[in-house]
Amino acid sequence: MNIMEWDSENASSTFLAQVSDLAAKADWENLRVAYLGKKNGLVTDLVEQLRNVPREEKPRLGKAVNQFKSLVEKTLQDHPLAKVESSAAQKVFDYTLPGYQPAMGSLHPLTLIQDRMVEFFVRQGYDVAEGPQIETAYYNFEALNTPESHPARDEQDTFYFPDGRLLRTQTSGVQIRYMETHQPPFRMIAPGKVYRRDDDITHSPMFHQLEGLVVGEGITFSDLKGTLQAFSRYLFGPETQIRLRPSYFPFTEPSAEVDVSCPFCSSGCRTCKQTRWLEILGSGMVDDNVLKGVGIDPERYTGFAFGMGIERIAMLALGIPDIRWFYQNDRRFLDPFSWR
Ligand SMILES: [Zn+2]
Repeated sequence: MNIMEWDSENASSTFLAQVSDLAAKADWENLRVAYLGKKNGLVTDLVEQLRNVPREEKPRLGKAVNQFKSLVEKTLQDHPLAKVESSAAQKVFDYTLPGYQPAMGSLHPLTLIQDRMVEFFVRQGYDVAEGPQIETAYYNFEALNTPESHPARDEQDTFYFPDGRLLRTQTSGVQIRYMETHQPPFRMIAPGKVYRRDDDITHSPMFHQLEGLVVGEGITFSDLKGTLQAFSRYLFGPETQIRLRPSYFPFTEPSAEVDVSCPFCSSGCRTCKQTRWLEILGSGMVDDNVLKGVGIDPERYTGFAFGMGIERIAMLALGIPDIRWFYQNDRRFLDPFSWR
């Protein structure tokens, strides 16, 4: 059976029909070997073939095969014949039975996507920097040109400690710390956990961001656009287009929201809400005030910055509808990614 021609619905109904015909223990055993046998078992064969299917087909086929595998295993295991004693002759030790397979650990889908994103920037010569998750208001807001009166500082969005410190709402503080200790030119990214008071199917109170910063002489908006274009093609495929829309962020001027052309359709689909574009990140040229604040001369140096949610990218790249699935540690969700 070629996996590309395999029809999971058809396979499931065929299997269930065979199960309903079972009359004797020997039939049950033959059926088990036909599906789960180490040699030529249909499920075993499909799992084997998953390794070689095109990358864009993997999430869909991986999920379908795993669901089918669970169905077969559970149905056979729960079947009344499973508990019937085999005939005396079969009771001797059967060395052809499949061996016990210990569960293998694997990388979490978010880690896989984050690693893939980080790899792009490392290849382009970016430093990877980290910083504290408990921040002061200075590094989380003020140094980023976000004064006390700014709506982004609203208590409703931020988790504060009694002493005035807070759980960082963005990884941008890492950029400030980096600029304080490095002289331009530099290129850096800051991936990591951030926290906001938000909780629904697309927002989680804890999520992951990846921000980037490039500062040097003669850095222009074209460099920003070129970098994001290359990144989007790396992530979503070589045909990907990007679109920049004017926007506002306190720490960049001018600022732009960046959309990528929908990787799933050419004429509108549910994921892109029929618009053919998906918003993936915010970006802009670093505001002069931010550079001045860390002692970098804005007359001599310019820079660009960008930031994106890793969950958002992973949901788009892997077709996952609910952000909470990432954190529930449910192996029915996690296992299909284990062969990536
Ligand atoms: Zn679409």
